[in-house]
Amino acid sequence: MGALRADRGVCIGAGMCVMTDSAVFDQDDDGIVVLLEEDPDTDGKVRAAVDACPSGALSITED
Ligand code: SF4
Repeated sequence: MGALRADRGVCIGAGMCVMTDSAVFDQDDDGIVVLLEEDPDTDGKVRAAVDACPSGALSITED
């Protein structure tokens, strides 16, 4: 299982990740992504959110 990373400097606040999995992703007052879980299961919805992010801010590093 890989590790989820979110680069807040790259995020454009599109909110696709929150719409895809609101248990793992949130947005701060500026709309920038915040991770709600440090080490979520990176299969399923989290991977779909990474794929849906239009800015490439989200990634999964395989270990
Ligand atoms: S989908 Fe990507 S750009 Fe949009 S809020 Fe989430 S991390 Fe940021």
